This record gives sequence, C-alpha cells and structure tokens, in this order.
Amino acid sequence: MGTTFTSVNPARPSEVLGTYPEGTAADVDTAVERATEAQQEWARVPTPARAEVIDKCGAILAARKTDFSTLVAREAGKILIEAGGDVQEAIDMAHYVAGLGRAAWGETMPSELPNKMGWTTRQPVGVVGMITPWNFPVAIPSWKCFPALLAGNGIVLKPSEHAPTCAEEFVAALLEAGVPEGLVNLVHGHADPGQALVVHPGVRAVSFTGSVPTGRAVAAAAMATGPRLVSLELGGKNAMIVLPDADLALATDGALFGAFGTAGQRCTSTSRLVVHRDVADELVAALTVRAAALQLGDPTDPTTDVGPVIDLHSAERIDGMVRAALDEGAQATTGATIVELDGCEGGAFYAPTILRGVERTHRIAREEVFGPVLSVIEVDSLDEAIDVVNESEYGLSAAIYTAAIAPALQAVDQINTGIVYVNAPTIGAEIHLPFGGTKHTGNGYREAGRRGIEQFSENKSVYVDYSGRLQRAQIDNRPPVEGGE
Ligand code: NAD
Repeated sequence: MGTTFTSVNPARPSEVLGTYPEGTAADVDTAVERATEAQQEWARVPTPARAEVIDKCGAILAARKTDFSTLVAREAGKILIEAGGDVQEAIDMAHYVAGLGRAAWGETMPSELPNKMGWTTRQPVGVVGMITPWNFPVAIPSWKCFPALLAGNGIVLKPSEHAPTCAEEFVAALLEAGVPEGLVNLVHGHADPGQALVVHPGVRAVSFTGSVPTGRAVAAAAMATGPRLVSLELGGKNAMIVLPDADLALATDGALFGAFGTAGQRCTSTSRLVVHRDVADELVAALTVRAAALQLGDPTDPTTDVGPVIDLHSAERIDGMVRAALDEGAQATTGATIVELDGCEGGAFYAPTILRGVERTHRIAREEVFGPVLSVIEVDSLDEAIDVVNESEYGLSAAIYTAAIAPALQAVDQINTGIVYVNAPTIGAEIHLPFGGTKHTGNGYREAGRRGIEQFSENKSVYVDYSGRLQRAQIDNRPPVEGGE
C-alpha cells in the first residue's frame, strides 16, 4: 500500500472524512489509459444522448441535495445554506449543459464560390486533465465535467487534497447517471499527481482552477510538454465601490455577504471596499457592528454565520497578512484574530475582520487574502475609485453601489474585470453567464454559459463543394494577376 492522506473536517480536524491514496505517476497513466479507451465510444454517442446522462446526474444531485450539502459543510467548512448553493450550482449546470446538447453546435456560412457551402462544428479534444480547488468542491468539478462530457471527452480529475470525498461522491453520481465505466477517473493527492497529469502525453487539454502560483506552474509544465489547450481560472482581489448616493443599508448587506460569506474563501470574495470618504465613517460603523455580531461556529449548525477557514495553516497565513497590514498603519475595527471555539477543538476559525486606513500600496490591498478580511480604502471620486479597482493585478469581479445610472455605467465600462455587479456584491455568479477574469485571474477562457464548452472542444470548419469541378478560393471569379495564367 502506498502513501495515503486523510481528509478532515476543518471545524473539527479530529473528525476524519476519509483516507485516500496519494496518486502516483503510474496511477495517472492508468487513469489516462482508461479515459482514452472509454472516450472512443463516448464520442460516437449522439450529443443529445450524452446530454440525457448529464441531465440525469443533475436529478440525482437534486434528490440528494441535503446529503451533498452536509458533506460540503463537513469537508470544506461552508455553512449549510452556502453548501446548498454549491450543490445547486452543479444541479443548475447539469440542466443547463444538458439543454446545450440540443442547441446550435456551430455556425453556417455562405461560400464565396457557387455550389459550395461551409459550416463549423465542434469535436472532442480527447482526454481532459482537470485540477480543482477545495472551495467549491461540487460546483467546480461539475462546471468542468458536464461541458467536457457533453463535448464527448474522457476525463481525469485531480481534485483538491482538502475535498476528495466530495469529488468521490460527485463522480459516483455521474456513474449512477449512466456515464460509462472508465470515462471519468479520479486521481487523488497533492501537487505531484497534478503535475504528472498535466504533462501526460495522452492529455490534450488541461482545465485548472486554483491560485496564481499553482496556475503558472501548471501552465508552464503543460505547455513545455505540449502544445495543449490550457485553461486557467485563478485568484481575485475583488473590490466593491460605494458612492455617496448609494443605499448604504444595501451596501452594508452586500459588503457583509461579499466579504464574509464562505469565510471570505471565494475567488470572488469582496476583499477591498473602495468607499467615498463622505460616507466611509457611516458605512464602516454599520459594517463593524454587523461583522462583530456574526456567529462563528460549526458549519453544520444552522445558527452559524461564518464557518472555519480550510486549515490552521490558512488561518495563520491570514493572520500574518493582517499583522503586516497593522504594521503598515491600518487599524482593525473588528476581528484580526484566530479564534478557538468550544466543541470545535483544533478548528481553523478566523474572526471576520475589517481593516481601516488601508493604503493602495499596502500588501493587504494588493495580494489575495482568501479569508474573512475586508480592507477599506477611502477615495474622493469615482475616477479615483475605478483607478483603485483597476490597479490590482487580478481581474475577476467588481461591484459598484450607486443610485445613479451614469456612474454605474461608467464603472461597468471602465472597470477591467471579467464580472461587474451593480448594486449587488462581488459574489453571486449565475451559471448561464460566462465566468472568469482578466489579467492574472486567467488566460482568456471562460467557464459556464455557452462559452463553457470552448475549452473542452475544438472547432472544425467543414467545406462541401457540390459543383463537380475544381473551384479555387481566392483565385476563381477574380481578375487574373498580371503575368499569371
Ligand atoms: P491551490 O492552487 O493551492 O490548489 C489548487 C489545486 O492544484 C489543488 O487540487 C492542488 O492539489 C493542485 N496543485 C497544487 N500544486 C500543484 C502543482 N504544482 N501542479 C499541479 N497541481 C497542483 O488552490 P486552493 O487553495 O485549492 O484554492 C484557492 C485558490 O483558488 C484561490 O486563489 C482562489 O481564488 C482560486 N479559485 C479560483 C476560482 C476561479 O474560478 N477563478 C474559483 C475557485 C477558486
């Protein structure tokens, strides 16, 4: 028996959810072989029939939503209602992707020559290597697997070492729905099996979601041994602008959910509150009262508002970033401490934290925290606010709160992110709109929506000439070139 690792409840690490084998390069070989073989047949199944399997998986997830949500809460530390949202994203994605199985698969174009026609269609890439993070342990695998399956691919999934049980259960639901044996394969473990997967010659496309440093390592290795299709969905440093005319009660609700929902561990979490100086005191005071009242606790307890962060190492990393901000001159209006809770011994809890007096140059204003920490940056104008939002090296999500249409549309127009919200927090994406970010957040692909299929399929342009003679594009029906025939 090789090396193993355990998955534990981050609220109570003595509670073990499962023990899993640390995948090796040989395990990756076997998984890719199985996927390659099964994919040959799957690619010949008509797309609407593949869609039916995916639809059925959505129904299975819906029937077991409570069990799946409880598992997500126990393994990833999300409070129950948010764990339910994670599972619901997968259900919605299944039904949406299934619908695409009967939708347009390409475009038709006129030809420049008579008796000739052209169209585009999509073909499977073959085997897709997927690497996923822990923070949406059902939703993110579903965002990748459903479109990849619809497009006719085989899959090898290397889920996060923090969420192997969610991945096991998700893949079990796929099999129960009718996904053929061998088509979707799991390899568990940490970085090494991930690296082995992305350089495997049998893997044509790599779909990665996680942090920027890991994404860089994945893309570099995949392309050095490629070329391959490599899609990257990486971190964020998301900002919410609040202007003086905003509904401050609404902005308070939005900032609270955006910053402290999922203990700040969403890629779209609100990390920077870019507030007009005229309303900063009032907004920060209201937020501080509400944040201080949030109930930290066991995520499966329905009275808990904020669960744990993923592990103690993460809590210590977050605390280190907060300490550095305080050293640079920021002040904490609430939080700024690791919390120990009775009944959750060894749990990784961090108090919801608001930092005031944060300057644009501070480390906390620039780096992803991935924890329940909101940095307040005060500005004097909308132009300055947009500058602050755009100076981040990340470009995932942004929000603006204002009662007026002109500043809202100026922000929509000038903010350089993949997602912009008006009068809603930076979190809350819906599965039928494209999801992804600009700059260091990604490399131009989008997940979800109709574009979600693109990273899992390759375009094929088809020409049919029924003229019965050789027709030459760009040459026939054009004036002859001087000196030519
Ligand atoms: P991570 O980068 O630490 O790990 C992600 C995955 O990569 C895990 O499965 C991990 O085992 C694997 N991995 C680690 N090193 C590897 C290597 N060298 N080669 C191959 N695989 C390797 O990220 P995490 O802590 O699991 O997740 C949090 C990060 O994910 C945050 O930065 C967050 O913003 C980001 N995220 C982005 C999105 C998005 O859609 N943009 C969504 C969710 C999370």
